[in-house]
Amino acid sequence: MDTLTSPAFHGRGYVQNGQGIAADFIARQFARMGLKPVKDDYFQPFAFNVNSFPDSIGVRIDGTVLQPGVDYLVHPASGRAEGRYDLVHLTPADLFSSERKAMTMGVVTGKAACLHWPATSNADSLKRFAALEQELMHYGPVVKVNAGKLTWSVSQEAEPFPLVEVSANMISDSSAVIDLHVRNRMLARNPARNVLGMVKGKGKGWVIVSAHYDHLGRMGPDALFPGANDNASGVAMLLSLAEWFTTHKPKQNILFVAFAGEEAGLVGSEWCAVDRPIDLAKVKLMVNLDILGTGDDGVMVVNATAQPKHYDRLVALNTKGGFVKEVRSRGPACNSDHCPFVQRGVPALFLYTLGGAAHYHDVLDTGASLSLTEFADIHALLRAFIGTIK
Ligand SMILES: [Zn+2]
Repeated sequence: MDTLTSPAFHGRGYVQNGQGIAADFIARQFARMGLKPVKDDYFQPFAFNVNSFPDSIGVRIDGTVLQPGVDYLVHPASGRAEGRYDLVHLTPADLFSSERKAMTMGVVTGKAACLHWPATSNADSLKRFAALEQELMHYGPVVKVNAGKLTWSVSQEAEPFPLVEVSANMISDSSAVIDLHVRNRMLARNPARNVLGMVKGKGKGWVIVSAHYDHLGRMGPDALFPGANDNASGVAMLLSLAEWFTTHKPKQNILFVAFAGEEAGLVGSEWCAVDRPIDLAKVKLMVNLDILGTGDDGVMVVNATAQPKHYDRLVALNTKGGFVKEVRSRGPACNSDHCPFVQRGVPALFLYTLGGAAHYHDVLDTGASLSLTEFADIHALLRAFIGTIK
């Protein structure tokens, strides 16, 4: 996990080929452990468009220099802006109807729209705000005041202008000007690779064990997103399980898959499910691991209600072995790499850890911040579970 989150891996994203370096590292681990490739090598290549920020980014408000990743984030679909802009402060009332919006746009032209949205968790409101933000990014730079936590992501698309999300403590209604130096680079058909290795079992069926290795990369040279919990922790578990099964023959064949492109919208797992490196009809179960860095309150199992027999056996093994505090159950959710497989009828469970302190999609998600409280226990539970799937 320390290796995957180190600066040399550049957040396993789209600046300085971080994802490529991570793929090569994982393939070397597979080779060292003696995993067999499915085809000629361990890689399953594909490509997708991704917006990136390799160049230095600068944001100043009324002369104060803001720290990237700490005081602000650029929206992943940001375009470019260079220079000084007057801030025009807007609330939803300025944009609530198409007529009102047209008038507002008129006075915003050539300036930076500064959005003060009310705090809400209402899905419809959030969707409406996001649509307005995207629309405004066609007219000029946009600034959004964020009263909560800064959370970054990855986009496959780029708008003409940037949106800068600024922490509420760095901006106010009376802030007057913003200096912007934001340059995106759209990587068209950027090459990516899933990393696949297998271990022969006693039977003819398959178990897929997966974890995505990609993360968000860097936002300019100064803001690194290490992605320790998400998902160096899951990759570490996958590698540890792979190593275990090379010397403890499982009942079924196991295909270990480290996916690329998860953060950009499950692109790697979608391609794997379409490309079918093995006969998906022979897959007894897929076990997807994403966010395994804590475990103080046990683990959550997504899609458990759709796979009651597998889930009940996992719970029984945990009760018998006394590994983690609780193995909780959730219904289906398209929130990680199991989803494209579930959509094609492959039985799957997705595990993540519960409890303890963890950061998410920010510069603080470092290896040092993770307790790894239950890592060894989860390893023991999973090897007992995966090794004996009928
Ligand atoms: Zn993840």
